[in-house]
Amino acid sequence: MTQQHYPFSNPPLPYSYDALEPYIDEKTVRIHHDKHLQTYVNNLNLALKDYPEYQHMTLEELILNAYFMPQAIQVAVWNNAGGVYNHIFYFNGMTPNRNAPTGNLAKHMLAMYGSFEQFQEKFTNSALSVFGSGYAWLVLGMDGHLSIITTKNQNTPLPSGVCPILGIDVWEHAYYLKHQNEREAYIRDWFQVVNWQQANENYEKCMR
Ligand code: MN
Repeated sequence: MTQQHYPFSNPPLPYSYDALEPYIDEKTVRIHHDKHLQTYVNNLNLALKDYPEYQHMTLEELILNAYFMPQAIQVAVWNNAGGVYNHIFYFNGMTPNRNAPTGNLAKHMLAMYGSFEQFQEKFTNSALSVFGSGYAWLVLGMDGHLSIITTKNQNTPLPSGVCPILGIDVWEHAYYLKHQNEREAYIRDWFQVVNWQQANENYEKCMR
């Protein structure tokens, strides 16, 4: 994840806006990245503007320390640093280059879930179980086991002490224009553009 600190900027997508077609449509990607993510970036910068003592902190540090910050910015930092972190993670986790689970992550997933199909079914059910807005994640726990968790709103997996490998945004803005209320169809399409190379790199980083 990015080592940037205040003032945060919105990193460009690692692919063009229409690159994930037909699975994730151009208009959704454009609005999601340029409007939604940009708003989290702007609001995070606004919250930190008058607090130089926090301006050297990375996203991870802000999220893990938000609880100890003054009341006036606590919630804003938590939500907006989370929003920036989650969206960068989500956008970096997709690619137009079709690929399959790979490396040590693929081996661990097979050992844990029996088959990739079984993993996909479990992950899909978790993502469907998010009531309202949130995310589903594949994470590595401190016990060295893979698990699938969900977070609400812009909460991240970080405060639970787990290390994120793969994450899907299931806020309606991530899919409503194309898939309307069909979150399951969106999840199926998202699996077509998962960047397993990136997921494996995340996994290797988590293992260290
Ligand atoms: Mn989103």
